[in-house]
Order: sequence, then C-alpha cells, then structure tokens
Amino acid sequence: MRRVRTRFAPSPTGFLHLGGIRTALYNYLLAKKYNGDFILRIEDTDRTRFVECAQDYIIEALKWLGIEPNEGIYNGGPHEPYLQSLRKDIYKEYALKLVDSGWAYYCFDTQEELDEMHRKMSESNIANPQYNYISRNYMKNSLTLSKEEVNSRISNGEPYVIRFKIPENEIVRFHDIVRGWIKVDSKTLDDKVLLKSDGMATYHLAATVDDHLMEISHIIRGEEWLPSAPLHYLMNKAFGWLDTIPEFVHLPLLLKPNGQGKLSKRDAEEGGFPIFPLSYIDPRTNNKITGFKDKGYLPEAIINALVLLGWNPGNNKEIMYIDELIEIFSLEKLQKSGARFNIKKFEWFNHQYIKNSDNSDLFKYFNEYKNEDANKLNKVCDLVKERANFIDDIYNNSKYFFIAPKEFDKGNLTDDQIDFSIKWIENFMSLIKEKPLEFDILHDFLKETLEKDNLKMVDVMPTFRLILFGTTNGPDIIKSIIILGIDETNKRIECFKNVFIKNISNI
Ligand code: GLU
Repeated sequence: MRRVRTRFAPSPTGFLHLGGIRTALYNYLLAKKYNGDFILRIEDTDRTRFVECAQDYIIEALKWLGIEPNEGIYNGGPHEPYLQSLRKDIYKEYALKLVDSGWAYYCFDTQEELDEMHRKMSESNIANPQYNYISRNYMKNSLTLSKEEVNSRISNGEPYVIRFKIPENEIVRFHDIVRGWIKVDSKTLDDKVLLKSDGMATYHLAATVDDHLMEISHIIRGEEWLPSAPLHYLMNKAFGWLDTIPEFVHLPLLLKPNGQGKLSKRDAEEGGFPIFPLSYIDPRTNNKITGFKDKGYLPEAIINALVLLGWNPGNNKEIMYIDELIEIFSLEKLQKSGARFNIKKFEWFNHQYIKNSDNSDLFKYFNEYKNEDANKLNKVCDLVKERANFIDDIYNNSKYFFIAPKEFDKGNLTDDQIDFSIKWIENFMSLIKEKPLEFDILHDFLKETLEKDNLKMVDVMPTFRLILFGTTNGPDIIKSIIILGIDETNKRIECFKNVFIKNISNI
C-alpha cells in the first residue's frame, strides 16, 4: 500500500475556526492510523488576502489541540519550503511545462478586454460568461496570436497570465471517497488562470503541483473545493501524474445550529458561543474574540465533539479519546450530508472530559490553592469535577474549601426560609457530632432526619450551601462537611449568623 501522506493546507486569510480544525483533524487521524505523515502547508499565494498573525494562530491552535503535523511549515521535512509564496519558481516551471505540452496558454488580455468579453456574452444571453473553450478563440492569447507575436510580447515585458486549456469535449470522470464517481462535462468548466501576471501561481496550480511533489496520498478538504476537483484531475492528467493522483475526500459542510448554511463567525457572535480554538484580537475591529480555551474547554473534549460532526464510529459510542480515534477512524464512515453545530453538545463533552480527568491533571486549575494538602485537594477535586462544565468551575466551586466566604448571595431565598433553615441546620449538626464522618452513614441520616421532619432537600440545602459557599448552588453538602470537618462547618454557621441574622434583625 502507498504511504499515507495527508496535508492540511490552510490559507492564512483569516483565523482558523472549527471548520478548518475538523479538516485538519480528519487528515491527522488518517495519517496517524496508517503511521503515515501529516503535513502542514501554508497556501499563501494570494497575498492580497493575507492576514498578519493568521499563520502563527494556525500553528498555536493545532498545538493546543494536540493535532500536530510531523512535517511542514514549522518542523520542516524533505519537501521544504512548505510556505507556497517561497515556491514561486517551482510553480512557474510547471506552468511552462503545460504551455509546452499544449495544456496551457499565454493570455495578454487587458482588464478592459475581459470586461468587454463578459459584457458581450451577457448580451448574447450566455448564462455564465467565462473564459472557456469558446471565448478563448476570440481573445488575445497564444491560441489566437502568431508564435512570433507571442514571443515578442513576452520579450517586450508585456504582462500575461497562463491559463489552463480545458479540453473541449470530454466527460471528466474522477472518484471521491465520500461521493463516489463524479462526472462533469468539460464544457461547463472555464480556463482557470494558473499563473498570475506577477508570476505567482494561483491556488489551483500551486496546490496541484505541491500535492504531487509532496507525494500526498489523500486530499481531505471541505466540500467547497469540490467544484475545483475536475480541474485538479485534468491538471494531473496533463502533467502525466494520473497513476499517483491523490484520493479525493470532500467533507460535508459544518452547518449553523439551525442547519441553514455553513457555520460562520457571525453565527458565533450572534449565538454567543465560541467557534475559534484560541482567543484573538480581530485586526479589523479590535474586538476580542474569545476562543474555546479561554471559555474553559479541554482540547480533548473539542476533538471528541468535533470528530462526530461528519463522521461516526458505526455505533453509538460517544466518548473516544484520541488514541482510540486513531485506531477506529475510517474514511468510509464519513457522512455525505452536512453536520449541524450544537454548542450544548460541546459543553456536554467538556463536562464528561473534566469528570474523567485525573485529579493530578486538574490541580493546576486550583490556582493559589494548588499547594494545599494533597489529600484535601484530591477530595475537593473529586467533588467539584462531578459538576464542572468548564475549567473555571473547578476553581470557582473549590475555592470555598480553602477560604470561608465573606459575601453571601441568597438568590431567591426569603429571610424566613433562611431563618428556619439555620435552626434546622444547627440541630442537624448537633445530631451528627458523635457520628463517624462517613458519607453513607451521614447521607442516610440526613435523609432520615428530613423525612422525620417532613422536609425535602430543597427546603434546607440552599441555605446550607449559602452558609458554606456563599451561594445557594454548590456541591453535595454531606461530602462538603466531610472535607471541611465539623468544626469548620460550625464556624461558618456562626459566622453566617453574625453577618446575616444581625442584618435581618437590624431592619
Ligand atoms: N488553501 C485552501 C484553503 O484555504 C485549501 C484547499 C485544499 O485543501 O486544497 O482552504
């Protein structure tokens, strides 16, 4: 079998969001599955759309997510350089080869002449006016001008572009792993520019040449590139590379939450959810765009949620760590239809991953408390990770195990409810004084006492949490008492009474 070599080939024209990351992820998984290579190539031939920092952002984002290339722009490899703007001469050489073999031609048309051509074609009711097998015969190019004239225009330094000459009468037939065999009538294709007047290649030439020279085995990319595939197939044919042409794999779209169209930055802004891995300052507006990392997501959770947007393992399994994904990933299970983005699903995965994390991996999120007694940290961690959806929840829900709250947010609780609950809590604490600090024993006793008093958890627990944590929500009370200890719990009850009850009686 041919060595699997995949490439992620983003253009640094903007910041990489989930759509691009999913493409990178599938390329990564396939390469790793077959012990192949995952290459990062930066396609920056269109310098007019270049965004400063976009390239660093791509590298940083892939690093954070753990889907790092083993060859390419920042770790080098046998096909350097991996930045297309540095490969200008290579592309020109290949464009000229196509001119020599009759698969491409020089064009000297000015912008005015091109506009005029479009105007005339529109007037003749040609639906899609383009430079193609018909119109090329009426333009200023090496198909219509004499050899001498072409040579003299070139040696006079006249600007030109090189276009691909689409064959006039051919059914282009190529295979895509997701979509099967695809047939396109060459008459519907236009003669795309391969080399621009500044001597730089266009995407089509650069990508096709690089995919060949870099021995790419699979081109896995977004569905928006499917219309370019017939041209890329024909270019491979023109170069005589059909025996090594990469497999095409065009991925279904990543859709907006409502399923209507492609997921965009605007959806994220309007919906208030992240779609970028890392935060950045938008150079156009100077606004900060918050990424998944700063919102408190674990990279593993994003990978897991994302891999399922367009692929499934063939069963209902949802939690899959990267090693397992590498093992079971297969192109055959890619889906044809678009996949809807749902932030709730990302939150759910994040919660699962936090819950399943080793405590030692979570200790770093305890900030100033991370050097506390390891035994206590472990217990706190066990407790708070059960309820944490985001990394911040770990710190926010754990800090009151290390310091007593000074401020209290009673939420919807009325003073009467609080007053009643305090009395009940004090009584409960006196009853458990002699009992062993064991969860099952204390939990059963709590249930019995509540039942006997004809109360429910919700009648007294919000006040208990208010006393211990300063808010009415929080972790399990019995587990919290065990970690804090009876003395500290009683101390907090006293302190709360001083601050709060005094306030009430003063009114
Ligand atoms: N440079 C293209 C992009 O920005 C990549 C297309 C391809 O993978 O062939 O998406």
